[in-house]
Amino acid sequence: MALKLHPSIDHGLRRGSSNFAGGTLTCKCASNPVQVRITGDVLHNHACGCTKCWKPEGAVFSVVGVVPRDNVQVVSGAEKLHVVDASAVIQRHACRDCGVHMYGRIENANHPFYGLDFIHTELSRDEGWQEPQFAAFVSSIIEAGFPPAQMGEVRAQLKSVGLEPYDCLSPPLMDAIATHVAKASGRLAA
Ligand SMILES: [Zn+2]
Ligand SMILES: [Zn+2]
Repeated sequence: MALKLHPSIDHGLRRGSSNFAGGTLTCKCASNPVQVRITGDVLHNHACGCTKCWKPEGAVFSVVGVVPRDNVQVVSGAEKLHVVDASAVIQRHACRDCGVHMYGRIENANHPFYGLDFIHTELSRDEGWQEPQFAAFVSSIIEAGFPPAQMGEVRAQLKSVGLEPYDCLSPPLMDAIATHVAKASGRLAA
């Protein structure tokens, strides 16, 4: 493939296994790494082109999915974690030493995605995680300096591995957000 988008996209997607039990995320530190135990599989795993999600060196996209926050447990190196940007909607807890984001948490109980934590399954050696389902915030890669003239190539490459490119989230997730808003305002029955 012409463009390097992300290591878990560039060579085709590796399908996850049903009933995957979860695994352990490990940061990039050679000694005393931060480790986070995830119970169960991720939901809505996807490529993300935004400028806030953590991505490996040289990647254009991140790959990020969500899990119920109760399924996330820091098992070692907790003292190395800090919040990257306390003003962001998603509080991204990263390792101070290597910079890897271990989990992102929404603390606003009124947010549509409250109760879900954002994680990067590539930090785990365990096999069977759900593969990316779509690509979100594709146009946003331009904000990080990606050449606009190559966007057609990017979208074609994403489609070629089965990732539908969207410039926000996927339609089901956008519908879920709008439904949450409509219920909060009373325009739909809760
Ligand atoms: Zn680290
Ligand atoms: Zn993102």
